[in-house]
Formats: sequence, structure tokens, C-alpha cells
Amino acid sequence: MSEPLRVAIVGSGPAGFYAADALLRSDDPRVEVNLIDRLPTPWGLVRLGVAPDHENIKAVSRAFEKTAARPGFRFFGCVEVGSTVSHEELLATHDAVVYTVGAQTDRRLGIPGEDLPGSWPATAFVAWYNGHPDFQDLAFDLDVERVVVIGNGNVAIDCARMLALTAEELASTDTTDAAAEAIARSPIREIVLLGRRGPVQAAFTPPELKELGELAGAEPVVDPADLVLDPASAAELEADRERARRNLELLQEYAARPPAGKRRRIVLRFLASPAALVGDGRVEAVETVRNELVEDGGRLVARPTGETGVIPAGLVLRSVGYKGVALPGVPFDERSGTIPNEGGRVLGAERTYAAGWIKRGPSGVIGTNKKDAAETVELLLADARAGTLRAEPARTLERLLDEKGVEYVDYAGWQAIDAAERAAGEPLGRPRVKLRSWAALLETGRRVPR
Ligand code: NAP
Repeated sequence: MSEPLRVAIVGSGPAGFYAADALLRSDDPRVEVNLIDRLPTPWGLVRLGVAPDHENIKAVSRAFEKTAARPGFRFFGCVEVGSTVSHEELLATHDAVVYTVGAQTDRRLGIPGEDLPGSWPATAFVAWYNGHPDFQDLAFDLDVERVVVIGNGNVAIDCARMLALTAEELASTDTTDAAAEAIARSPIREIVLLGRRGPVQAAFTPPELKELGELAGAEPVVDPADLVLDPASAAELEADRERARRNLELLQEYAARPPAGKRRRIVLRFLASPAALVGDGRVEAVETVRNELVEDGGRLVARPTGETGVIPAGLVLRSVGYKGVALPGVPFDERSGTIPNEGGRVLGAERTYAAGWIKRGPSGVIGTNKKDAAETVELLLADARAGTLRAEPARTLERLLDEKGVEYVDYAGWQAIDAAERAAGEPLGRPRVKLRSWAALLETGRRVPR
């Protein structure tokens, strides 16, 4: 039997696992996969992005565990491309490299005051409450009465909902203790979600919007005037798409609800952009400008009307999308924040592929990455069959890392972390209590070089 194809996959989130699974199912050629991550733990945003109260969404990790159990799978945590190993070293130890690194940073608003203390990217807040080891020292001050969340996507909804959960709702989740205590103790009365376009154009999805109406300690508030559609939006709705229709129905229902007097209110506002964040040494308010929708290249875009407003707020979360980051030695398109590719074949780099958000941008749900990764893997396997990938690497990744004296976390190490976290959660009725520091993660999961 011929030698298996050796493939490195960089990034162990959903796209990485889906790519690994598709590769490991192949008989012709047989494939071995080294799944690499800069963190000691796998699963990417399934572990560190999906909201802790969405345990059902996190259940996709069971499929990842099945993939990891396939012959030919290996995990290398704490291995960073660019510092621990280079792209060239990966090419020298594998027949092909697939990048599935997602989108590592946040998009900027580009408005005055954006970096005032008290203004945070939503991505940092999400990483903080989820126990990401790089974000545990951030000082989120929730001792405020109003929070403004800028953006109308599902991340904005996640942030608003997490801020609105009661101590009881948080108790059964794997939210970090520090975040759960800060949220439960906070005097927050109002969380404002600011959408720059109208309700028909909102990016969030109906199940997530529906949850806002089912919270124990918070209620959604919608001004009926915000739901009066301009003719272009009405036409867009007609042409639509289940999502906008269902979103609008839910928003109409919220607008008609009498106040229930719950402790916190989630106010959904539309057609308003932040113009500036203002405050003396820290955020005290968001200056807004009212928008109207105008057609631009077949799309309805927000245009400022000049009508201004002010929303006092002690905390601002900027939730306007993620953005990909360049990897040393790998082609990158700054404008789109992606690796330039055709169907996943990276342009301008030999034996290199991409899947997931770094291939197409930060869109879609977890499952979207399955089809996306399958497309990339199909091309990779076709190239392998055509004979363009055989590099006959002289040494293995494991050997390279041992020679460099790199301490990494292998799959058994991750399983030790996983078991320790689940065991800590069990008596508390929580799915797990996450290890939150690099030191604790490495102590539990580290494999020492031979
Ligand atoms: P997203 O869905 O792309 O939403 C970004 C939002 O930011 C949009 O409402 C956008 O408005 C707004 N925005 C962009 N630039 C702005 C600006 N300068 N000023 C004001 N608003 C601005 O991104 P996301 O929420 O980060 O989510 C990323 C992906 O993960 C999405 O596909 C999402 O569905 C998915 N996700 C899913 C779940 C779930 O299934 N529960 C949870 C979290 C995330 P415009 O539309 O006007 O551009």
C-alpha cells in the first residue's frame, strides 16, 4: 500500500474539524491529518465563541470527538504558525497545508472615541465570558446602568442576552465565575441594540431574536415607529426570505407587549448609527445619527439624515463583525480579510488550501463550514490524485517539534483537560468549569518533548 498523504490543518475550529473529517474518510489516497492550534484546546468558537447558555449548539463537539477518534488523526495544541513553526516548515513536513484559522480580530467602526475606556470589541467580551485564556485579565466594568451594543448580528444578540441573564440562568452554564458574578451583580437596567439599517435588514436570525422574549429577568422593548417600513424595505420583505419575515413578526409582537416590569430591558433600535463615543476619560454616551435607507448597487444601505441623538451609556460593545488576520508567509487579501483562493485552493502558494471564515469571510452558522470544507477537500484530493501534492516529507511534524524543544498538547492532553473540566462542573450541575489560564491548561495537558 502506498504512503498516506500527510496533511496539516491549521486551526481546530469547526472548519478544521470538518476538513479533517472529510480527509480522513478518503481511501484514495489514504490521508493522515495533523490538526494544529495555537491554543492548548480544540474546537475554536464552539468552545470559546458560542454563548455558554447555548449548550445545544456546543453539542456539535460530539461530532468533532468522532473525527478525532478516526485512524490517522493527531492534534497539536500550543503550536502557532508564524512563531512555533513557519508555513515553509509545515510544507516541508506535509504534502499539503489547509488553513482554517477563522477570523481572529474585529472590524473597526472608524468613529471618534472608539478606543475610550469602556468601549470594547464584542469579540473580547465573548472571549472573556467564555474563559479564553488570553482574555481573562480584561477589566470589564459592568457597574453601569446602560450598555449599548452596536450591530445587529447574532453576536450582538448573544452579548445582549448574556448581559441580561439572571444568576439562576447562568448557574447551569460554563460561563466563567468572574463573568457570571459580574453580570448577576451588575446594576444594568437597559441594554440597547443599535442597528444601522431597518428591521428587515437585520442580520440576526429568528431563533436568537425569539430567545430575547423568553428571558427570566429581562424583556425586549421595541418602538412600533421603528417597524414602519419604507417602500424599498417592504418590497425587500415581499421578495424575502423567511428570516426577515419571521424577525419582523417577532419584533411586532415585542412592540405590542405591555411592559412586564422585569429587572432589565433589551431595547432594539433601528436606523441609527453611532457617530461618536464621548466621555471624560471613559465612555459616557453614544452620539447617534438617524439613517434612511437608499438603494446602492442593488442593496439598501444606510445614509445619515443629519438628525442626531445621544444615548448615555457606561459600556459600549462594538459588534460589527469579525475580520481575518494575515499569517506570515501565506497570501492575504487585506480588504476582505481572507486568504485569496479559488474554491479553497490558495492562489499564489503551492500545496496550500483554505476553508471556513478565512476562506469566505465571517458568515454563516457552524454547519455552513461543513460544505465549505468539503469543497476544499475535494479539490485537495483531486490534486493529490493528479500527482501534484507528493512532497515526500523527510521528517514528521512531531520530530520537528521535538527537535525545536516545543512543548505541545496532544489529543490525550486535551482529553485530560476536558475530563478535569467536566469533573469540576459535575457537582455544580454545570457542563464544565473551564481551566482559564495558560498555566493551568498546560499543567494538565502538556506533553513534554522526548
Ligand atoms: P454579522 O452577522 O455580519 O453582523 C454584523 C452586524 O454589524 C450587521 O448588523 C451589520 O449591519 C453591522 N455593522 C457593520 N458595520 C457597521 C457599522 N459601521 N455601524 C453599525 N453597524 C455595522 O456578524 P456577527 O454578528 O459578528 O456574526 C458573525 C457570524 O456568526 C454570522 O454569520 C452569525 O450568524 C454567526 N453567529 C451565529 C450565532 C448563532 O447561530 N446563534 C451566534 C453568533 C454568531 P449591516 O447589515 O448594515 O452591514
